[in-house]
Amino acid sequence: MHPLAHSLAVTFQRDFASADREIEWVSAEEERALALAPDTLLIGRVDARGRTGGEAFFGEWKTASPAKARRMDEVKAAWRTDPQALTYGVLLGPETRRFTVRWAIKTATPTTAFEWYSYTDAEIDHWRDQLLGIAHEIRCWRRDRDLHGRVAWRTNFGNCDRYGAKYMCPFFEPKCSHLAFAKPMNSPRTGHTELEKGVAAMMAANPQLVVLSGSRVDDYLGCPEAYRNKWEGAGYTEENENLTIGTDFHSLIRDYIRSMIHA
Ligand code: SF4
Repeated sequence: MHPLAHSLAVTFQRDFASADREIEWVSAEEERALALAPDTLLIGRVDARGRTGGEAFFGEWKTASPAKARRMDEVKAAWRTDPQALTYGVLLGPETRRFTVRWAIKTATPTTAFEWYSYTDAEIDHWRDQLLGIAHEIRCWRRDRDLHGRVAWRTNFGNCDRYGAKYMCPFFEPKCSHLAFAKPMNSPRTGHTELEKGVAAMMAANPQLVVLSGSRVDDYLGCPEAYRNKWEGAGYTEENENLTIGTDFHSLIRDYIRSMIHA
């Protein structure tokens, strides 16, 4: 367990304890799947679901850097139409139109922030159409590979340092900066959820199948070539300290939420 993940989780529980006592918690880290079309499957692991005042909502827990926390108003506004949150909105169906995002901020003494949001049916319908469009584009990229032997999908070099120069895209130095798009990364993807573990077999059985999730959509919109590297074929498992902190933090909060779910 990373020590920073532990202190972030302690702060999260302390800061939200009062609000959490008013919530009827339903699930924590629940895996869900929804067939958007015969060959398009949407999957996801929802951080938490609950009810307040009789209304269903889902929760999304994030860790955030101090730099991000300094512009928290912008960050909160961006989540209103964040592709990952919209994707969860589609996944959870019409009975869940509200969601909350909570941030645990990685300062020396951790702090937290939160915001509540809601979607209209029209917004969710629009995003469902967008997801089907993304799935169609992915099939077109695959077809180009099969028909023309083209390896790289569309690159977006403006996305390589999306998280700052210290956290360059893992494909930049070994592959994209040398136009060596076919170079293997030798770190095949290992699924983090039970659904993810079954995806490779499903795709092998049905080459037309496109599996989407919040992370996959976020990667695709940022750079289709990054999506290809991470999620197509053998895929790629990224490892770094930030991901370790995030994974450890999420497992602690999962246990905390589960402790509040009444049998
Ligand atoms: S995959 Fe995309 S984001 Fe990553 S280095 Fe290549 S062009 Fe940049």
